[in-house]
Amino acid sequence: MKKNLLYAASAALAMLLSVSAFAQVQTPPSRVGGTQQANGEEAPRMVPAMTEFYEPVPPTVTPGKFSAATQNWSAPSDAVVLFDGSNLDEWVSVRDGSPATWDIIDGTLSVNKRQGDIITKREFGDCQIHIEWCVPVGISGTGQSRGNSGLKIGGNTGYEIQILDGYNNPTYVNGMVGSVYKQTIPLANPSRPNGEWQYYDIIFTAPTFNKLGQYRTKPRVTLIYNGVVVLNDVEIIGTTSFIGIPPVNQNTTYQLMLQAHADPSAPLQFRNIWVREL
Ligand code: MG
Repeated sequence: MKKNLLYAASAALAMLLSVSAFAQVQTPPSRVGGTQQANGEEAPRMVPAMTEFYEPVPPTVTPGKFSAATQNWSAPSDAVVLFDGSNLDEWVSVRDGSPATWDIIDGTLSVNKRQGDIITKREFGDCQIHIEWCVPVGISGTGQSRGNSGLKIGGNTGYEIQILDGYNNPTYVNGMVGSVYKQTIPLANPSRPNGEWQYYDIIFTAPTFNKLGQYRTKPRVTLIYNGVVVLNDVEIIGTTSFIGIPPVNQNTTYQLMLQAHADPSAPLQFRNIWVREL
């Protein structure tokens, strides 16, 4: 009998302890003040200052300034300027690595189709890219043969953001201006008429890879075209491919390439090209 009583008492005590433990587990850790901690002491009451941080302090960046003379904005203070109208020191020929010789005319860069594609000497990872271009008035051709260029992040084994005349120039929509070429259709077409300057602001997130060389996280891109979001944090499937499924290339740093497309239409002009590493 004594044994049974002892057993019942210890079972009741165990139940009480487990209910108490359950109550503690169920108490949300973020509850504002007045809660008991495991050691039995009162938790400090939360006040606004507890969730207000003062470091790390973001670096100061002086934003670009508008110039009445050029009717354009300068690059932010922390940008790597790739072309400011004066020279092509940051660029080389893709064909043979020789200095880039695209034509600089009145501070703008004109595609030289004889030399072919040009590429930056520097490599970038996650980055913000600004680039402006103009399709000349009177451009000839149709579709992909009308003012075709492109910004290739990673060169010919990277990812092409298509640059093409998109003003009354129908083509396949996953290859139109603002597309991730042959992959993603832009959300809108805010193209300006020929002869007017247009711009891209691109935010590129580089991929990561697993031990097998497959994407662990795919590359992603946001594209703001003439102030309009046309690619919204889009996942890139693979390296741009003209024919077939986009393959995976394991590059983790990227030179930026400007395409000299072989079509016979008049060359595009570029200006104000800069990059910020993120
Ligand atoms: Mg192109």
